[in-house]
Amino acid sequence: MNTNITKKNPQTVDVKGHPLICPICGHNYFWSRRILLNTVLATLVDLDWANRKATCFICSECTYIYWFHG
Ligand SMILES: [Zn+2]
Repeated sequence: MNTNITKKNPQTVDVKGHPLICPICGHNYFWSRRILLNTVLATLVDLDWANRKATCFICSECTYIYWFHG
């Protein structure tokens, strides 16, 4: 998985065999990024210290952000 947002190279994304499609604009190309959740957000969603990483996919068309824990 590409760990940097690369404006030139959005990719299609599958989640457990299902293609990810933007609910806003219907586009199916996303930039991906692995991130470390900050303390406030991790507290809000009740994550422990060992599981504060997330993957986000950003729609290359409208910039809607999908978040996945882990
Ligand atoms: Zn979109």
